[in-house]
Amino acid sequence: MRPAILGGSATRFRLFPRPPYANPGRPPEIVTISVPPDLIGPGPSDDRLYVIDPVRKNHPYGIVPGPYGTPHLSFPPWRGPTYPPARAGADGHFDRIPIEAPEFAPAHVYGSIRFVLDVWERYFGRPIEWHFARDFDRLEVVMLPAFNNAHVGYGFMEVGANRNADGTVAPFAVNFDVIAHELGHLIIYGTLGVPSRETERGEYFGFQESAADATAMVAGLHFETLVEHLLEDTRGNLYTYNELDRFAELSATEQIRLASNSVTLSQFAAGWDDEHALSQPLTGALFDILVDIFQENLVERGLIARDVADLTEQVKKRPEYAATIQTVFDAAYPGQREGFRAALIEARDYLGVALAETWKRLSPDFFDYEEVATLLLAVDGALSGGRYREEMTESFVWREIGRVKVGPRLSPPDKSSHAFSARTLVPEMRQGLPQMSYRERVLLARGI
Ligand SMILES: [Zn+2]
Repeated sequence: MRPAILGGSATRFRLFPRPPYANPGRPPEIVTISVPPDLIGPGPSDDRLYVIDPVRKNHPYGIVPGPYGTPHLSFPPWRGPTYPPARAGADGHFDRIPIEAPEFAPAHVYGSIRFVLDVWERYFGRPIEWHFARDFDRLEVVMLPAFNNAHVGYGFMEVGANRNADGTVAPFAVNFDVIAHELGHLIIYGTLGVPSRETERGEYFGFQESAADATAMVAGLHFETLVEHLLEDTRGNLYTYNELDRFAELSATEQIRLASNSVTLSQFAAGWDDEHALSQPLTGALFDILVDIFQENLVERGLIARDVADLTEQVKKRPEYAATIQTVFDAAYPGQREGFRAALIEARDYLGVALAETWKRLSPDFFDYEEVATLLLAVDGALSGGRYREEMTESFVWREIGRVKVGPRLSPPDKSSHAFSARTLVPEMRQGLPQMSYRERVLLARGI
């Protein structure tokens, strides 16, 4: 197996492209991240982020009750005790930590974050700054297995676990997708920022979720083994249900979202109440565009015929074509693995650069999906003279982006909404909270 090398040789980690509980038996892949061994300390840690495994951190960051119950804002850094950090081997690399060792999870989280940053900084052509740089130099990444979620906020990422209905626990620390998704939120905060209460529109929150999923999808395609499995399983027919499609897998059969959904914007014309649902039409459009670019590349390489590509683009409207299309791919793929792989990598990188350029141009104020579509088309024009204009336009039209206006938020955000959670709190918001007694402040400062 060839390791994925990004930015030359640097430090090796072992990452699971897909969580082991969803894909038992698949070993982690050795990847190389761009930070050299001598710049990575225990944790792991470096000049932009550090991972900690705290002892008895009872609450995630955000608004938490004090020792006497008074709500207060809790931000990094964690000042309490921590479990021993993950350390590199004698050769400076992190790829020999046994999977069963407690240090594997923090190393996996750090390696995943750095892997995703390498991918996206390359697409952006510049470093991605933290939106909290005014107050914190580095991202604090907290291992918090008791937390039933994973989230990011002002200066932190906290990584918990999912309690499945069958009683099993799916730790997010070994779920690359979930970590990449959370980092995607930080990339968008660092690039666009947040709207004010006056300028915010619902689609901004749907876009956050969609961009976070796109961050994870494009980053995941940098695993050699994932690309290999994906092509082998589908024979290059990515319009079938496949592993690229499933986000945040919780088990072999359960995942949080599907990229190849068929949700259109009119479902939200009367209003919306969950930004994850609202993200689906945009994510679906981006997924379809990725597959369309891939198929165009296959046609250009002479690997499939033009009429097959045209037929697959119709399959959403005409599902009865699906079996015929699969037969064609089953015949086209054998012996052409390398050509299919190269076509997919090229599509991945085209979409990656196009998204980074689009995100750079977006404003968080008065946000709507139509602006994303308009800018992506303009970027495609600038990058290649509009090579994929037709496919992109068709995808957006089919999702009703630019045609249908999203209605108002129907219910106040609940706990699952990230939009008003710890993610958007900033230290100044302390003023709005009740005063604590001196005694409670002392107990809090002692970490009691
Ligand atoms: Zn999210």
